[in-house]
Amino acid sequence: MASASNSGTDFIRETLREHASDGPYGGRVQTRFPPEPNGFLHIGHAKAITLDFGVADEFGGSCRLRFDDTNPETEDARFVDAIQEDLRWLGIEPGEPAFASDYFGQLHAWAVALIEDGKAYVDDQDAETISENRGGFTTPGVDSPWRDRSVEENLDLFARMKAGEFAEGERVLRAKIDMNHENMQMRDPVMYRIRHKHHFRTGDEWHIYPTYDWAHGQSDAIEGTTHSICTLEFDSHRPLYDWYHEAIGLGGERPRQYEFARLNLTHTVLSKRKLLELVSDDHVDGWDDARMPTLRGLRRRGYPPEAIRAFCSHIGIAKVNGVHEIELLESFVRTHHNTNALRRMAVLDPLEVIITNWPDGQDDIREAINNPEDEAAGTREVPFSGRLFIERDDFMLDPPKKFFRLAPGREVRLRAGYFITCNEVETGADGEVTRLLCTYDPETAGGQAPDGRKVKATIHWVSADHALDVDVMLYDRLFTDSHPGADGADPLASLNPDSREVRSAKAEPAVGDIAPGEVVQFERLGYFARDLDDDPNAAPTLFHRTVGLRDEWANIQKRQGQGGK
Ligand code: ATP
Ligand code: MG
Repeated sequence: MASASNSGTDFIRETLREHASDGPYGGRVQTRFPPEPNGFLHIGHAKAITLDFGVADEFGGSCRLRFDDTNPETEDARFVDAIQEDLRWLGIEPGEPAFASDYFGQLHAWAVALIEDGKAYVDDQDAETISENRGGFTTPGVDSPWRDRSVEENLDLFARMKAGEFAEGERVLRAKIDMNHENMQMRDPVMYRIRHKHHFRTGDEWHIYPTYDWAHGQSDAIEGTTHSICTLEFDSHRPLYDWYHEAIGLGGERPRQYEFARLNLTHTVLSKRKLLELVSDDHVDGWDDARMPTLRGLRRRGYPPEAIRAFCSHIGIAKVNGVHEIELLESFVRTHHNTNALRRMAVLDPLEVIITNWPDGQDDIREAINNPEDEAAGTREVPFSGRLFIERDDFMLDPPKKFFRLAPGREVRLRAGYFITCNEVETGADGEVTRLLCTYDPETAGGQAPDGRKVKATIHWVSADHALDVDVMLYDRLFTDSHPGADGADPLASLNPDSREVRSAKAEPAVGDIAPGEVVQFERLGYFARDLDDDPNAAPTLFHRTVGLRDEWANIQKRQGQGGK
């Protein structure tokens, strides 16, 4: 699993290196990856995953997959399965997962101990009042009238909260810290709230559920986590993380929290809430739509796990939030497929070509190279015949100066085929070109003319009578805005209405060898993934354009005047 890591040096690895020699925990490293089972993993999670599992691997430690299942209303077992599946797809073997709900009993016992120590109390104020009385950055908080309840009364009320005697929102358990603390997180944070909800693992056993802060750090402690790595927005929660550990009487070698910048990508939304909105409002087909930044979406789109990991490794870990260009991620995808993908020919917008001098009924098989980057990939047979399809935009009736492809009277090379010359153009009633009449030169079978004459372009083609009919999905950015949702705007306001376009394409017969989920290069057009749900025992019906051939990242760098990152 070595390649899963975003290795190199960064502040987290520096810390781990220090701790490895003479630090706490006897040099032991244990991390965790704590998703909430309320949605699918996305590319942002991949950054956390490659860090959490990566450093554990590099430092001879272990990483625990722990489901943070403390909100029964939105969580579900299907997400538990999906998250493990997605981790395996990414190349991580997560092992037996843990669940925060496994610790509900211990968390409750600790909460009772805190009450007994006078460090927690039951508050009867409603959520709105609690929030108002918390104060602001410049105003102190206001003590709850229930803050100084006796231990006995607190124990009794907390037991009755647990037994389900009160309505949701009627009472909460709060830690008794400091209502004037400069850090708002420390102003008597809520530890438990009442929820009469069915939990997918604990059923109807509990009527109180721990908050994130109470559950998280204590779960870390129970598991023996040494380094609890999370994203920057939890920076202000760190004092509370430490306070709870101290309050429950944890010894010296307790877990510590470290924060890194979350991944942001241009033209991309990585908030689960917003992704859910895309799905539930039918802006996309589902969580696994090829336009989604979920691992499932990226997989359908043809993004290989190796490229996702290489990208995460390349961008590294920082302490300040930033936004990465989506084109950088795409360049990793392109690089991977350039070495690995088979080449095939397909025509997305077919224009019929008749080879007028083709001998009647003659069958001809051309040989084409499967992957110029990989000799071992060998060659394939491509049928040639007297009726072909070429790409409509590879022909122009009245070409401008810099157009070198096919035009009336002009000769071009057909890739792995012959030189053809366009002699006649047939048009429909509206002037649209309907068919080209061409002649081929049988002497150019090897791709060169024996007399040495040159052509200025090589175009792709398929034999009409041998072609497979496939649908091809072309994609544009899902959000037109490069920073959707910046400045507090609703990211969905910049949803691109034209993010997907279907083409009825013609493909050479060898496209039939491509398995569902496999990525192929359609020559001159880009990389395309056969749909994952296509019947593996039947001819392909659907391809998704993964990414085009042009390296837009290189252009961006040139524009920015950088030599490379
Ligand atoms: P959301 O707030 O959108 O629901 P989340 O961060 O709460 O997302 P979790 O399932 O709780 O989602 O996340 C699990 C882990 O993945 C957390 O440790 C979180 O820090 C990390 N993570 C989530 N999104 C990103 C991101 N964009 N970049 C890096 N790490 C992320
Ligand atoms: Mg979360």
